[in-house]
Amino acid sequence: MNAVEIIEKKRDGKELTREEIKYFIDGFTSGEILDYQATALCMAIYFQGMTRRETSDITMAMAESGEILDLSDTLGYVVDKHSSGGVGDKTSLVVLPLVVACGVPVAKMSGRGLSFTGGTLDKLESIDGYNTKLTREQFLSQAKEYDIVLTGQTADLAPADGKLYALRDVSGTVPSEPLIAASIMSKKIAGGADGIVLDVKMGLGAFMQTVEDARELAQIMINIGRDAGRQVTALVSDMNQPLGYAVGNAVEVVEAIDALHGRGAQDLIDHCIVVAGHMLRLAGKGKATDLSDVRPMLEEKLANGEAWEMFRKLIEVQGGNVKQVDNPDLLPKAPVIAEVESPQSGSIKMIHAKEIGLTALNLGAGRHKKTDPVDYAVGIVLDRKVGDRVKKGDRLCTIHARTEEDARIAEKRVLGACAWSDEDVKPLPLFYDALFSE
Ligand code: URA
Repeated sequence: MNAVEIIEKKRDGKELTREEIKYFIDGFTSGEILDYQATALCMAIYFQGMTRRETSDITMAMAESGEILDLSDTLGYVVDKHSSGGVGDKTSLVVLPLVVACGVPVAKMSGRGLSFTGGTLDKLESIDGYNTKLTREQFLSQAKEYDIVLTGQTADLAPADGKLYALRDVSGTVPSEPLIAASIMSKKIAGGADGIVLDVKMGLGAFMQTVEDARELAQIMINIGRDAGRQVTALVSDMNQPLGYAVGNAVEVVEAIDALHGRGAQDLIDHCIVVAGHMLRLAGKGKATDLSDVRPMLEEKLANGEAWEMFRKLIEVQGGNVKQVDNPDLLPKAPVIAEVESPQSGSIKMIHAKEIGLTALNLGAGRHKKTDPVDYAVGIVLDRKVGDRVKKGDRLCTIHARTEEDARIAEKRVLGACAWSDEDVKPLPLFYDALFSE
């Protein structure tokens, strides 16, 4: 077996064997197979696709390229969630405490933002002292003692994916469905999840532009889950406009705190209840796929403050300054806060998620390169959703910026990201579909 033959075979549209896939992924992980060869294979996969069997095989080869965590002794049934990435997606900050408050422990490893998409770790680091770099021992003991952990990767999970993703990112091979599916599922499988809720985003701020493409990706991940003996629920959700109103870091923490108090962005609350409900269902707390049996409990945990108390506990045990979440005025604040008015009357028909994400990125809320620092204070807080009616002069959003000049540039871009209609516009749905492995 050699790398060139494997690349040529896929280039010519033939099916790779399990042994060939394993040989290639192991060789790439160890450095024997070179970056340009792996890039060539990714491009061949991009054009030729992979069968279900090949996709499951590359996922397992990537999962097995590093350690596979076994959390069954610590947590019992391990439930996890993953979002395919989006703008304003602070779901984990709300969903984790909510699920744990319902009696299901969750120890989650999250990621950082890259390009226009935000990352849970960056948001959490806007809280002074919050430790996103727990060791594996801290991760396990916190999971055991408190049932809740939200941190960065503690172990060398799926290192082949990290290396391969870096190549895909710079070679135009990210938007390959089998490669995206293998990338996401290899990390979840290596992280020890028995039950996985996938939030597959579709729309202007997502990899998948149509419901059909997102459903196809969701189905591929469901199949991988089945082949790997994991339970998977895949939701197809909207990412045409940002989730909630806040896009940035500290501003998103504030919005998550509001949601945990049952107030603020209703779309965020509704979205979190659905994701949390499916996690509870996988963990055996409910049966109904429409979540009718777990929804009352979730609403109760938000209303009675138990989800909020769980969030406070998470911040406290991970070293964060609880005073800042009790009083969000103490979170990082931008020196310039500028209001943007609607230049016309009408119904809002577009708030382009990717454009809003890029605006927040350019304000400093995200990073262009992995090593860039993040400005926790800056961002955008929208006042409107698609379907809202506005009058000329109504506030559209507030920009939190480091300088007046930054705010002016952001204002122009936000206005360019919005579109109005004289006709009534229907609000966007939150979810388009739900697929189940069982
Ligand atoms: N998220 C991932 O983890 N991997 C991809 O390839 C795309 C999105």
